[in-house]
Amino acid sequence: MTVPDNREKRLPVLLTVKSVRDLGPRYRRITFTSPALADYPACSHGAHIKIMLAQDGQSEPVLPTMTATGPKWASPEDKPLLRTFSVRELRREAGEMDIDFALHGDLGPASRFALNARPGDQLGISPPGGPYPMLKPASQYYLAGDLTALPAISAMLEDMPADSRGYVAIQVGDETDIQDLRGPAGVQVQWFIGQPDQVQPLIDQFCQQLLSAKTTTESNAEQLADSYFWLGGEEQIVVGLRRFIRRELDVERTQVYAIPYWRFGIDEDSYHTSRHQVVDN
Ligand SMILES: Cc1cc2nc3c(=O)[nH]c(=O)nc-3n(C[C@H](O)[C@H](O)[C@H](O)COP(=O)(O)OP(=O)(O)OC[C@H]3O[C@@H](n4cnc5c(N)ncnc54)[C@H](O)[C@@H]3O)c2cc1C
Repeated sequence: MTVPDNREKRLPVLLTVKSVRDLGPRYRRITFTSPALADYPACSHGAHIKIMLAQDGQSEPVLPTMTATGPKWASPEDKPLLRTFSVRELRREAGEMDIDFALHGDLGPASRFALNARPGDQLGISPPGGPYPMLKPASQYYLAGDLTALPAISAMLEDMPADSRGYVAIQVGDETDIQDLRGPAGVQVQWFIGQPDQVQPLIDQFCQQLLSAKTTTESNAEQLADSYFWLGGEEQIVVGLRRFIRRELDVERTQVYAIPYWRFGIDEDSYHTSRHQVVDN
């Protein structure tokens, strides 16, 4: 399914912080409000967005005008700081949106914004990006990621048909960051505790799950062919699992979404180009 490409008609929105709630020591939900959210695309659950943060000295971020080739700022020096996030929840009738932030100190502007957020603070958001839908139709789902991918994973679990089967592996820094997730009973969720460079237990366990799904019975192997794989979060998780899924299991490219969200030690501006090279290789 494709969404009509009407980029110039889909407008950025200036959001105001309504409330801030800690879901864990490193995981913060910020509820934003704007009357314009009543017209924000309804298909946004879990979709990625650009957040636009005011530069130092600006009271609010300067929003672009949208053109057929993308956003344009009248004065390029006014361009806000851009970071990529996910829509955790959109409540159009209430004019509200939740965005969940993985906190990592004041190292980056997005984490800094979330750490200091108070009601009345503002940021801009772009229209939602693809793929649409994020969750492709399948009978089995295999998802993996870290706290940064948890908003999208949570949204997809909620959107899965009740009879879905599968396995979800999520890495967090501390067990107090573990969340109660709603999803189908047949989809097992397993949490891993570790720092971003300690992803091998998650990778090993995820691969083990897939190997047993492939080899247990013939019908399980057929179900693997009707599976969808979704990988997000720090680069090591995404690259390690994507390689296994594509090369060892010989899964079609169209059955796999694999986007490294961030790389340890590199900010998003610097990582933007190499992220795409990593995915293309
Ligand atoms: C499609 C997509 C969807 C995303 N959705 C979300 C989301 O919903 N919620 C969310 O929290 N993140 C999400 N991310 C990840 C987020 O964009 C990055 O973590 C981003 O780097 C955060 O920006 P920043 O300004 O805080 O840090 P930056 O200025 O980009 O980076 C500063 C430093 O912090 C490090 N860093 C960045 N993120 C982390 C982290 N999580 N833990 C530890 N160190 C880190 C960097 O490596 C760098 O050294 C998403 C990314 C993509 C591509």
